Amino acid sequence: MISPPPNPLPQGEGELTNLIKSRIRQDGPMPISEYMALALAHPEHGYYIRRDPLGVQGDFTTAPEISQIFGELIGAWLVIQWVLMGKPQAALAEIGPGRVTLMADILRATSGVKGFHEAISVHLMEISTALRQKQWNTLAGKHPDINWHTGFAEIPAKPLLLVANEFFDALPIRQFMHTDLGWREKRIGLSEKDELEFIFTAEPPPDILKDAPISDRPYEYSEAASKMMIVIANRIASYGGVGLIIDYGYEGSHGNTLQSVRQHAFHDVLVEPGTADITAHVDFHNLTLAAAEGGSFIYGPIHQGEWLNRLGAKERVTALCEKAKAKQKKELLAGLARLTASDQMGQLFKVLCVTHPSMPKPEGF
Ligand code: SAH
Repeated sequence: MISPPPNPLPQGEGELTNLIKSRIRQDGPMPISEYMALALAHPEHGYYIRRDPLGVQGDFTTAPEISQIFGELIGAWLVIQWVLMGKPQAALAEIGPGRVTLMADILRATSGVKGFHEAISVHLMEISTALRQKQWNTLAGKHPDINWHTGFAEIPAKPLLLVANEFFDALPIRQFMHTDLGWREKRIGLSEKDELEFIFTAEPPPDILKDAPISDRPYEYSEAASKMMIVIANRIASYGGVGLIIDYGYEGSHGNTLQSVRQHAFHDVLVEPGTADITAHVDFHNLTLAAAEGGSFIYGPIHQGEWLNRLGAKERVTALCEKAKAKQKKELLAGLARLTASDQMGQLFKVLCVTHPSMPKPEGF
């Protein structure tokens, strides 16, 4: 009798591995960026395309899922910016909105602000068809003008109020290593046993490596992140507005931050692509360079904990606790700690703000 293989994969699950292997056989070792793009966004087998990765039952949890104060404070912050902009007709946009918990909290927190909902149209840039359906259900009735897009260029050209929480970490990166022979790229090849493995290849180094620090650790570069930041900054410089980028990341030298997570645990990046999230920490230094190139002013990055506290996170939680039952109170306080404490998300996560050069320094920076 033939016994079934251990942990059989759902049908179709191995297809992406096979596709990646055949591409490597044909074209040679694959840059990590191409592998990430396929694993996350392949139109049929990509991780984000097929599933809702968020929440306890999913693979990871994000700030808006942890506490309502995250979206409420950001909503209040956006309204202040909108007032400073002269209350224009504006595009309220979120890129990579996930379960739209953040957008739902922003819309709820701002619903009482005179003229705000009338002045905005809502724009969600989302590649996942599975998530789009959920987003549509969650936001039904919360605003009369909600639009979905696959690319930033589709968001109408008008003053922009943009948020991106845990979006940039999902954009593909390449990795380079400085060796005695010069720069080498870390790519994905095939082992003798025909398994995916990391190897180093001699590739012409991209221009960005001219300024890269030389160390014994890999250097990561995301062209997709830089390009995205440039178009956002360009839009803001031309039409006015602000953008808030929140993510885990670093500013100075770093190393290998490529990671994969499945069901709230680390997973091998090269195993079963398409079934687990793959991310890299965001290089905020490169994002600020890109934002400057796009013509925006830049504030931060600062630690998420510090920013939320300056916006009144503690006071908001104290106010909510006054009306809360004991269990809720405990959850509110635990949520606040998780978002702001330096040993939790408070320091690892950073907040970067890009604005039109005419805007005053935004609150919290
Ligand atoms: N901002 C949300 C979700 C973060 S998860 C939150 O804070 O909870 C990342 C989100 O980005 C998912 O919605 C994913 O489908 C989306 N995404 C990833 N890559 C994308 C891309 N290239 N274009 C548009 N959306 C993308």
